[in-house]
Amino acid sequence: MVRALILGGTSDANLLAEAAARAELDAIYSYGGRTRAPAHQPLPTRTGGFGGASGLADYIRRESITHVVDATHPFAAEMSRNAVAACMITQTPLIALERAPWAKATGDSWIEVPDIASAVAALPEQRTRVFLAIGRQHIAPFATRPQHAYTLRFVDPPEAALPLPDADVIVSRGPFTLTGDLDMMRARGIAWIVARNSGGDGARAKIDAAGELGLPVIMIARPQVPDRPRADSVTEVMQWLGHRACLGA
Ligand code: NAP
Repeated sequence: MVRALILGGTSDANLLAEAAARAELDAIYSYGGRTRAPAHQPLPTRTGGFGGASGLADYIRRESITHVVDATHPFAAEMSRNAVAACMITQTPLIALERAPWAKATGDSWIEVPDIASAVAALPEQRTRVFLAIGRQHIAPFATRPQHAYTLRFVDPPEAALPLPDADVIVSRGPFTLTGDLDMMRARGIAWIVARNSGGDGARAKIDAAGELGLPVIMIARPQVPDRPRADSVTEVMQWLGHRACLGA
């Protein structure tokens, strides 16, 4: 008997939830609770942290979870590390549904950096307009470069004042389109982009738009997580769970 726990919060996790529901798989979808109105899932859903690796191990035992799928965002490294540790403690099979990172295409002007601090340091000295496509928890370090005008895009409106003196906020939920991001970048006069190498199609439009407009992209590499089995498609995860993937027509 399979009873899967899907650590979610990404569009890939949502596709997996759809496939699991279609296959009538016994599965629970877990949200971290960062988004105010997360998408409804066709599976029983829980929200919020487990309390570290030991909390997740307790949850796995309590809920008789047989398989864990880590379908979190590639930058959600803490959750991924906890999943590895908890599955080790409880001897539960784990797989990561992880999209490949974006690769630089010929003509792309990327400055590849390992972390946020290096991204801040890679910005030019002279005032420019920066599209900061990195998630709200990470914008504070950019306050040390207050000369720039920043455009930010969030799923929810900010609850408090932003730490950046010149910030223009777009509230919108992806996926985004190339045409839409080209229009947005032209209309706002974006000259630099700071992005995390999330991979996947949903967030790729800004990278393609930057390439078309010949704009420099400061690309932050993914954080390290311990080695674990990986799948790069929902079909592969469904097979691992012992089911045919039912992705619809
Ligand atoms: P994180 O730093 O890896 O997780 C921090 C803690 O949040 C975890 O230790 C866990 O708490 C809880 N948590 C995270 N995901 C969870 C889940 N699916 N179910 C239950 N608990 C969960 O991850 P994060 O804080 O969510 O985000 C880290 C980075 O990833 C951020 O940079 C964020 O912008 C990015 N991210 C992007 C997307 C997206 O674009 N779709 C979605 C999510 C995250 P406990 O230790 O208490 O269990």
